[in-house]
Amino acid sequence: MKAIQLLEPNLLVQRDMPIPEPAAAEVLIKVRTVGICGTDISIYKGISPAPYPVVLGHEFCGDVVKVGTGVENVKPGDYVISEASWGCGTCYFCQQGQPSYCEKPFVYGRTCDGALAEYVKAPARIVHRISAKVQPVEAQGVTAVATTLRALRRSGINVGQSAAILGPGYTGLLLLQLAKQSGAAPVIVTGTNDDRLQAAETLGADITVNIRRDGWLDKILAATDGYGPDVVIEASGRPDALEQALAMVKKGGRIIAFGIAGSPIENFEAGQLYKKDIAIMGSKGGYFEYGNAVKALESHRLKTRELVTHVFQLEDAPEAFRFITNNSRSVVRAVVEVNC
Ligand SMILES: [Zn+2]
Ligand SMILES: [Zn+2]
Repeated sequence: MKAIQLLEPNLLVQRDMPIPEPAAAEVLIKVRTVGICGTDISIYKGISPAPYPVVLGHEFCGDVVKVGTGVENVKPGDYVISEASWGCGTCYFCQQGQPSYCEKPFVYGRTCDGALAEYVKAPARIVHRISAKVQPVEAQGVTAVATTLRALRRSGINVGQSAAILGPGYTGLLLLQLAKQSGAAPVIVTGTNDDRLQAAETLGADITVNIRRDGWLDKILAATDGYGPDVVIEASGRPDALEQALAMVKKGGRIIAFGIAGSPIENFEAGQLYKKDIAIMGSKGGYFEYGNAVKALESHRLKTRELVTHVFQLEDAPEAFRFITNNSRSVVRAVVEVNC
């Protein structure tokens, strides 16, 4: 089968590899589409470690073509999505029912070969059926929907509370839609790219603010009766966004760090934690939200197709990664079509 392997940072090649054989409790999936996210780009650039060579791709959908012994939840012919990572099942946290904190997690494209290939094998327990009404170009987004759902749930947002989403990228634009549907009002989106902020308005943002312009904080305060948003969700990946979050959040409010992967925060006014009596929480992964994410996609209440700005074919994946790396401001979501 054709597969796209990362040999070393910034070096992706197409390889001919044997089709994996599903062991007991595993399934073989014929891949339809793979979404490329910031984590893939971070592994590609060598910022996030991975054992080379490795086949990238952890957000995908496809069709079950073969199952190992003991698999009961899916069968050959089922159209499915897979969770992006899974717990070892035996460590302290897995035994506590908290696979998100697993000491030795498995992650496609990180600890084992991923989905940028014609076929990928998966543990059956993390594979979910999805309705054929959800197009493959939409179904690849299920991991992003699951992770944003988890972030929103951790924020504790409620009807009538105000929310600010920092960073109108793929996950930020999903968070915006979910916050609106949760009854948050107003929902504010901040960013640095006017085209993206325009996209946020089209998707229902009540107020958009370009934080490169003077008066951004006044605008946000004015939109929230002078108090600031009850909930601020950082989805930009920029550590300085946490400084902005701290400045804008309402007293007693909550900040969710969703997009930052490992950078120091330079001007973090820690005293604000005390003065404003606020909580800052991280949110990692989408464990326990995949079932809800599948339902959300099947309801077609989320606009996900509209967020896909670039589509590539499997053999063009090496070029796609170069393109995404060099055009991060114009690429909201890139999808690789495999068997479509
Ligand atoms: Zn991802
Ligand atoms: Zn574990």
